[in-house]
Amino acid sequence: MFRFIHLLLTNFSNQLFPTLCLGCSQSLKSRESILCISCRINLPETGQHREPYDQDLLNKFAGKVPIRFIASYLYFKKGGIVQKLIHHIKYKGQKEAAKELANWYGNQLMAECEHTSNIDLIIAVPLHTDRFKQRGYNQSEWIAMGLADALQIPIYNNVLFRNRFEESQTHKNRLERWENVMSVFSVKNPELIRGKNVMLVDDVLTTGATLESCATELLKFDCMSISILTLAVAGS
Ligand SMILES: [Zn+2]
Repeated sequence: MFRFIHLLLTNFSNQLFPTLCLGCSQSLKSRESILCISCRINLPETGQHREPYDQDLLNKFAGKVPIRFIASYLYFKKGGIVQKLIHHIKYKGQKEAAKELANWYGNQLMAECEHTSNIDLIIAVPLHTDRFKQRGYNQSEWIAMGLADALQIPIYNNVLFRNRFEESQTHKNRLERWENVMSVFSVKNPELIRGKNVMLVDDVLTTGATLESCATELLKFDCMSISILTLAVAGS
């Protein structure tokens, strides 16, 4: 019984303040957080922010949405450390890990990336209301917080919202329904983004479809430019 309670408490405190490396499960030393030094050094960083433009990434959006700058911190590979980290962040309550990783990235951007210097505000890709209720937090918001701390840029969480189709579909005709599906996101308080350089933040960049519809919606309200940062990108 005592063993069980001890295990329960250890698990609980590990969730709040992880004492084991999220990469290799070894005990963390006093100055390490989230990852041991060896896992941190070996993180598969993309280094995209050091390039003037990453053409491959921009091509994902080319012709659809004008994106000024896009970069991801880490490469996401099946079975790799980044997949583990994202899993902890999305399903194991490790929102602090999202913030910490983004903060490491933010510090790199601050020192090495000119593209982030004139960003006016950060907007995190909103989560489905249902999923937010289930998870209790939006991981992209925590990533945005880590970046915002390092880059000293404000986060606006009262601009971009995800529409709830389930509720609103019933009373609409076919055309209205189609239009509704076309815009998964909607903008409130558009005056806050008019003429501004906006940084959109998400967890993982895969097809780019979600970010594309966010950007499309924001651009309808005359923001000056859209840049995109994600914690991870699928590939390599
Ligand atoms: Zn480790």
